[in-house]
Amino acid sequence: MTQRTHHHAPLAILQEVFGYNAFRGAQQAIIEQVCAGGDALVLMPTGGGKSLCYQVPAIARHRAGQGVAVVVSPLIALMHDQVGALEEAGVHAAFLNSTLSSEEAQRVEREMMSGRLVMLYAAPERITNPRFLAQLDSLNERGLLSLFAIDEAHCVSQWGHDFRSEYLALSLLHERFPAVPRIALTATADDITRADIIERLRLEEARIFISSFDRPNIRYAIVEKDKPREQLLRFIRDEHEDEAGVVYCQSRKKVEETAAWLEAEGIKALPYHAGLDAGLRQRHQDRFLREDGIVMVATIAFGMGIDKPDVRFVAHLDLPKNIESYYQETGRAGRDGQPAEAWMAYGLADVVNQRRMIDESPAGEDFKKIQRGKLDALLALAEATDCRRVRLLSYFGEQYRGEGGLPDAGPSQGGQRPLGGQERSDVGGKRLPDAGPPQGGQRPLEGQERSDVGVQCGNCDNCLNPPATWDGTEAARKALSCIYRFHQNGGQRFGVGHLLDVLRGKDTDKVRQYGHQHLSTWAIGADLSEQQWRAVLRQLVALGHVVAEGEYGTLALTETARSVLKGEVQLLLRVPTVAPKKGKQSRAA
Ligand code: ADP
Ligand code: ZN
Repeated sequence: MTQRTHHHAPLAILQEVFGYNAFRGAQQAIIEQVCAGGDALVLMPTGGGKSLCYQVPAIARHRAGQGVAVVVSPLIALMHDQVGALEEAGVHAAFLNSTLSSEEAQRVEREMMSGRLVMLYAAPERITNPRFLAQLDSLNERGLLSLFAIDEAHCVSQWGHDFRSEYLALSLLHERFPAVPRIALTATADDITRADIIERLRLEEARIFISSFDRPNIRYAIVEKDKPREQLLRFIRDEHEDEAGVVYCQSRKKVEETAAWLEAEGIKALPYHAGLDAGLRQRHQDRFLREDGIVMVATIAFGMGIDKPDVRFVAHLDLPKNIESYYQETGRAGRDGQPAEAWMAYGLADVVNQRRMIDESPAGEDFKKIQRGKLDALLALAEATDCRRVRLLSYFGEQYRGEGGLPDAGPSQGGQRPLGGQERSDVGGKRLPDAGPPQGGQRPLEGQERSDVGVQCGNCDNCLNPPATWDGTEAARKALSCIYRFHQNGGQRFGVGHLLDVLRGKDTDKVRQYGHQHLSTWAIGADLSEQQWRAVLRQLVALGHVVAEGEYGTLALTETARSVLKGEVQLLLRVPTVAPKKGKQSRAA
């Protein structure tokens, strides 16, 4: 019967079960790979349509008599939602997790063992449960184990932002069920994480599908901190009045203070962090999802698995940990494809804080080194004077060729790479990702990714208002030699505030106390504003030439400072865009 031949076809399933007309981007290629019994590693941004990549093959293979697909997911809320939606669409699905009673669990197990179930969602720890494994063995022996889908696959990597040790055990799926196809999916993976996923999940034979990570409707802007709360308020009032948004802060205290302050300024703002009572948290989340124009002020506890299409902005009042976190968090804006904004205010204190958090963490040296490298890459993005999107995408190994961009000026990359979810590296077998992000230390801000020179997105702050730059090389040398003089002059270390006072020749008690008005570096930087000096220091810290240590952020030179002192490194800095502050100012950057 003709009916029958179309019955298992992916497109028929897409239309008949999900009600969509056509596949998006790489979905079809991915689905064909898995339906044919091959492994796949899928990197697709949030909202890209990852779920269908395993749901359609699961249905197709079930219809072909190949039994149950096991979907491993760490997100209980997401399992509930997906199972609900699938059952709604007439697809027999269920989940096994700690929220079920033992009767409910037994009922699900019976459905699974009969092979009637199309999809079983399970938490990763379930996979190592001997009873569950025995059940999978039994299904497998009867040819009723159709595929494994491993969602949020980056959780297997210690280098990622969301490591879960239970994921490590998932390598046993390959060892125990070598004939069952596996598809691993993630929205975040830089080169290091990607290599880690391949190795730890034993996906050496998998085809790798990398979609474009570009979110063209998101406008990126990163501003220098200068009374950040007021900057935020201005940003919301001027550009996002009555629109839904998320404001990320690092600490719970700051979340509460910021929410209260915005509220007092007449913005509908709610706090959200893991320290709030669960009921309250739920209510705030519900209001954010249902009401219009709520601004959620939150720690990173907020967001995973929250799918609100019309979030118009995501603002950061503190620097995220790294580019993956930045991308993930800003990616919650504009899922509906309408214009949205990712806005961040950052300053020297952020750089110092993040460095300190890494330095003081109990992790091993290797881990810290990687974290520092990742932070450096984020700082380079924040300090960049060229297109943010080009930088962001190049971090994910992607070369931007936007519609607004000039033709590719760089060396040929071996064939066109279309935008919008196209398979990129489908070389089966051993292809490992390119070298990872910088491993700490210096990362020159200028002169990298030469082949991207000239390409512009036209939808980021730097493209829309190209910042003027000035050569800060001489200033950097002055700052470094001043720190060096402090050290020579009694071995004492000082923070940024005092350094700037000495450079600018301010007569303070502290200057007199240490006799610093007699240093050769006294007042050698009177020509620059305090703000310009802060930019110089930010760069020096960002590039790792200076470290700020301890509670007071006292400054010390590193090995690499010498190259700047010798004039071997050029520092191109943004000309500050905010007006210099008047009168007394805080030292907090
Ligand atoms: P991800 O898991 O990658 O974040 P989802 O799988 O949740 O993304 O899909 C995001 C949205 O896009 C969902 O609402 C989904 O129904 C929709 N979607 C996915 N694929 C298609 C398609 N081919 N056609 C239309 N809508 C799609
Ligand atoms: Zn741009």
